[in-house]
Amino acid sequence: MRIFDPHIHMTSRTTDDYGRMAAAGVRAVVEPAFWLGQPRTNPGSFTDYFDSLVGWEPFRAAQFGIRHFATIALNPKEANDPRCRPVLELIPRYLDKDSVVAVGEIGYDAMTPEEDEAFSVQLALAVEYELPALVHTPHRDKAQGVKRTLDVVRESGISSGRVVVDHLNEVTVGEVHDTGCWMGFSIYPDTKMSPPRMVEILRAHGLERVLVNSAADWGKSDPLLTRRTGEAMLEAGFSEDDVDRVLWRNPVEFYGQSGRLDLSETADTGPLFEGSSILRGGS
Ligand SMILES: [Zn+2]
Repeated sequence: MRIFDPHIHMTSRTTDDYGRMAAAGVRAVVEPAFWLGQPRTNPGSFTDYFDSLVGWEPFRAAQFGIRHFATIALNPKEANDPRCRPVLELIPRYLDKDSVVAVGEIGYDAMTPEEDEAFSVQLALAVEYELPALVHTPHRDKAQGVKRTLDVVRESGISSGRVVVDHLNEVTVGEVHDTGCWMGFSIYPDTKMSPPRMVEILRAHGLERVLVNSAADWGKSDPLLTRRTGEAMLEAGFSEDDVDRVLWRNPVEFYGQSGRLDLSETADTGPLFEGSSILRGGS
């Protein structure tokens, strides 16, 4: 089983996690810029973090044969902090980097006017830099949050096929499905979405435009839940090709839209990808 985790915060994980992920079949990851828990008090704190997402973390991942890509943004929570908002001016310089494959995580946390502004400004950056967008949805009041998120996406003019709306569940999947946006699901150890629940969603809504991630970070989370979801799919009667589509080909297709997803040196990419233009950047 080859796995591409399209949303994981390796900054907050150990080197042992990289080892366990590689052993479980993880060959590539996307690490979105996010909130670190401790409030950041100045833009310089973000530049060091963004630099680590395009420098140190890819190096650390490479020791285990894992390709590491990043998405860059001012996250929704810190969009509310006036000390952090000047970061919006620093983001364009990172959107030019080879290993940055989307703008993200953007979206809503508490749905404030400040979040509104940061969200639409950064969707405009995604359009300008011809990058996909990774959109976080709030964990509280999710139904309302998703509705408003989809309105802002629509108004921005970005093509829906270049947007993933993340952290969905049974209640919110249908609405996002109808928009043509990609649907992201974060699988957690004992709250929110679980592997068996994910399998039921795949049964009901199909495999198209679905991304499954662990969203592992410094909270209670598990970087191997992508693998557990693949196993649950097989047990439920999905084929190995179905699992490969959800856990590998779908994230490759979505982030491949950046034109920067170079997976040419990834182990076990397999014959399905020989000659595929999506794997080579710059096209
Ligand atoms: Zn996240």
